[in-house]
Amino acid sequence: MNKTNMAVTIRIDEAFCKRCGFCIEFCNANVYEADKDGLPLVKDPEKCTNCRLCELRCPDFAVSVEVVDNE
Ligand code: SF4
Ligand code: SF4
Repeated sequence: MNKTNMAVTIRIDEAFCKRCGFCIEFCNANVYEADKDGLPLVKDPEKCTNCRLCELRCPDFAVSVEVVDNE
């Protein structure tokens, strides 16, 4: 499985998220966009490269990125 056929599931825990925007800023693939309150929305999950920076940089452990076996 390589980056072109990899599928991921990205979850944001709204209860933990404090709307800091770090995940949006660190994502070079522009997967996220913020809603009007700053909550990150997963806009383009197919662009995700599974770098996991959003997950690693979230100060509140509110992001999980999981590779999905799509064979
Ligand atoms: S980095 Fe974490 S707390 Fe900050 S906006 Fe993203 S999910 Fe929310
Ligand atoms: S894993 Fe990387 S590419 Fe995927 S949403 Fe997070 S920061 Fe963006």
